[in-house]
Amino acid sequence: MSLKGSCLCGAIRFEATGEPQGVSVCHCGQCRRMSGHLWSSAYVKDAELTIQGEPQWYVSSETAKRGFCPTCGSFLFWKHNAEGTTSFALGAIDGPTGLTLQKHIFTADKGDYYDIADGVEQR
Ligand SMILES: [Zn+2]
Ligand SMILES: [Zn+2]
Repeated sequence: MSLKGSCLCGAIRFEATGEPQGVSVCHCGQCRRMSGHLWSSAYVKDAELTIQGEPQWYVSSETAKRGFCPTCGSFLFWKHNAEGTTSFALGAIDGPTGLTLQKHIFTADKGDYYDIADGVEQR
């Protein structure tokens, strides 16, 4: 399996091989601010993700950092410091992903201006 994606301006491209795990939408305050609404992602092992270009990494907490394009600002990656995996933005994938959303996460932090009504598991 291979998924390819890019930022808005094309300076950062990536390819994820292997089976994407944890297909989710995050409603946490950090993802809300960084994306402007929600952030949808899946993750693969670090060795299964190839990144072309130089994302800028923002250290968002003691345990994780967030990668974005320094030119256009697209929020593409989330990386835990210790888990050996990198999450990539599903919204940045070229064409159909073939994936199905598995869960909404951090829904306790979600904005009050929308409801989650798709029947997918909420955490
Ligand atoms: Zn860009
Ligand atoms: Zn989040």
